Amino acid sequence: MKKLENKIAIITGAGSGIGRATALLLAKEGAKVVVSDIDEKNGKSVVSEIEKAGGEGFFIQSDSSKAEGHESLVEGTLKKYGGLDIAVNNAGIGGPIAPTGEYPLDGWQKVIDINLSGVFYGLRYQIPAMRQKGGSIINVASILGQAGTQGSPAYVAAKHGVVGLTKAAALDYADQNIRINSIGPGYVKTPLVTNALDDETMDGLVSLHPIGRLGKSEEIAELILWLASSKASFVTGAYYPVDGGYLAQ
Ligand code: NAD
Repeated sequence: MKKLENKIAIITGAGSGIGRATALLLAKEGAKVVVSDIDEKNGKSVVSEIEKAGGEGFFIQSDSSKAEGHESLVEGTLKKYGGLDIAVNNAGIGGPIAPTGEYPLDGWQKVIDINLSGVFYGLRYQIPAMRQKGGSIINVASILGQAGTQGSPAYVAAKHGVVGLTKAAALDYADQNIRINSIGPGYVKTPLVTNALDDETMDGLVSLHPIGRLGKSEEIAELILWLASSKASFVTGAYYPVDGGYLAQ
């Protein structure tokens, strides 16, 4: 028996990295997956991968930094599949690297728009679509939703915001069968990280993870699958690290 048979899932930022791995895993477990991304080529290629593996997927292009992007994504999902059971608010960017006193103002706004406001807009349109049957929403925060780091004030502020927003929203719907949780991945080698950091800095990140290596997108997807499934039926408002021990230090 597949874990998500007949469930309908939206995944934002599903064209790459953690979102892509999540789309493939949820589809493998029987979900009908709406693959959403601002990048049409990558998004459509993930749908092809899902179909090749015998699953069901559908691409909807959307900009997660905009309320209208989420509104049309939910509308498109209801039109295509007639419901919404699972949403993974995963789209995100790393943003500029600079100390707070020199941080580019437009960079700040862009990171907040996608990484924090984007999650709020997601919840704002996903929750009403789940109110009849209930559902599970997973917001992809970061270890930097609990800890700081140098040179990324906007990213750290946005991810801390996602953890708080998740708790607030979870409490609003805890008695209405809509579970809302956030997760905190450690560093994973995806374009978000490799575009910003050189090889030497990447190697330095390994030592921050007691497990002795970086994470894999597939390992993050496994936690998302569990939170999405009925196995996590008593879990809401929580923040789960999946970080090779990073936050235990
Ligand atoms: P990634 O760059 O591989 O994937 C991000 C995806 O989001 C891309 O496909 C991109 O096109 C899409 N995207 C960006 N802006 C968008 C927008 N405005 N609208 C719609 N889609 C948009 O990165 P990833 O590492 O897989 O990141 C996924 C999530 O995981 C992000 O929220 C990120 O902050 C978080 N995260 C990543 C790491 C890591 O080390 N990679 C660690 C902790 C948390």
